[in-house]
Amino acid sequence: MKTSVLFAFAAAAAVLSSSALAAPAKQDMAKPDAALHDQALELLKKGVAFRTVIPGDQVKPYAEYLKGVLVQAGFKPDEVKIEPVAGSTILVARYAGTDAKKKPIVVIDHMDVVEAKAADWTRDPFTPVVENGYVYGRGALDDKFDVSMIVTVLAKLKREGWKPGRDVVLALSGDEETLQQTARKFAGDLKNAELVLNGDAGGGQLSEDGKPEFYALQAAEKTYADFQVTLSDPGGHSSRPSPTNPIYRMARDLDRLAAYKFPAMRSEITMAAFKATAKDKPGPLGDALRRYVANPDDQAAIETLSADRDMVGQLRTTCVATMINGGHATNALPQKVTANVNCRIFPGTPSEEVRKTLVKVLDDPTATVERQNDGAIDAGPSPLRPDVLAAVTKAVHARYPGLPVLPAMSAGATDSMFFRALGVPAYGVAGVFMKSSDDFAHGLNERVPVASIDGALAQWESILKDLAK
Ligand SMILES: [Zn+2]
Repeated sequence: MKTSVLFAFAAAAAVLSSSALAAPAKQDMAKPDAALHDQALELLKKGVAFRTVIPGDQVKPYAEYLKGVLVQAGFKPDEVKIEPVAGSTILVARYAGTDAKKKPIVVIDHMDVVEAKAADWTRDPFTPVVENGYVYGRGALDDKFDVSMIVTVLAKLKREGWKPGRDVVLALSGDEETLQQTARKFAGDLKNAELVLNGDAGGGQLSEDGKPEFYALQAAEKTYADFQVTLSDPGGHSSRPSPTNPIYRMARDLDRLAAYKFPAMRSEITMAAFKATAKDKPGPLGDALRRYVANPDDQAAIETLSADRDMVGQLRTTCVATMINGGHATNALPQKVTANVNCRIFPGTPSEEVRKTLVKVLDDPTATVERQNDGAIDAGPSPLRPDVLAAVTKAVHARYPGLPVLPAMSAGATDSMFFRALGVPAYGVAGVFMKSSDDFAHGLNERVPVASIDGALAQWESILKDLAK
């Protein structure tokens, strides 16, 4: 998973505030280090060539390749552990700090990628190609870009003899795009962490003409949950209609769901994002934003914002019917109808509470409502820690002076959720800056701009040095 969804809100918002602040530098100001740039690019290209789709067996060789890079830089072989978990592989590397009593900083990301059908792509998805300033390939963006930047930086710091004040642990999962069992495993092992930095969330937005617009620091994500609604009936011959036809009942039930709005909610993160957005957003939406920021209980403002598809997800839990199945023959009364209701739950609300609300809203004693995909878990937001905000802002401003740094809640669920559920704060701090139109994560012809490399390397080094003191 990468961050495109979170940008829907922030982008709608932020074309905005960059104009009000001192105009940030158009070019990434990071000082290029040609040798390091080449190493990072090489890692990314080699990485794309491993077809790390799950199910599959290429995550392990990719992990072994990354381990080789770290060991060559000076990590001891037993400081980089590769372990099979749940049909995939994890890599956990410990960069020893000077004070073993301090809690470690954990850096996470994922080695697996979403499936790609070569026949549909312009170029082979697992042959890295550098063209027109982009690296093309499945995973080039999601998330081998930041994996390559992180590993390059850790190797550089090791070679230079940098000693962090506390341990820095790199933990790479192997099934983030599917069952997410590998991160569940290492989150349990690393629950003593001070905080988690995730390369698979957050990141910078460029306008279509390449100007930086904002940096999104991801500090919360909504819980993903599917619920199956099922209605059954004895059925019968279609020439003998019955008042209990479950297709009609489902239609009425879902109509009630369509009319229902979950209560408006807010958090430190959504309020900070709304505040940043409210400053100079024009039109009625801007007015509503400013009224909402001034008084988060302003119902009229909430209603205006909720009518905006980019904003509604930041204000409340949303549940929507996404699939429906029913009937078994054109000339028979249906015996069974199921509907999938997909929910994006506001952090802090247990999914069971949402299920109970659905039961009430559907208001049909014959309907059953069952939670699907048990893999996802309920995780609260992370506090907006001043030290994290300061470290990230400093690193981003070294690239683009004065660029707005927006705290963000994303609609998807990354591996961060396992740490947040255990009370360890987690922050999405990806190094990539790109245009919305370049975001093909999970899609065809995925690509990442080569121009992001130098800045991403500098950003990771700066954040690690500041937070792992
Ligand atoms: Zn991802």
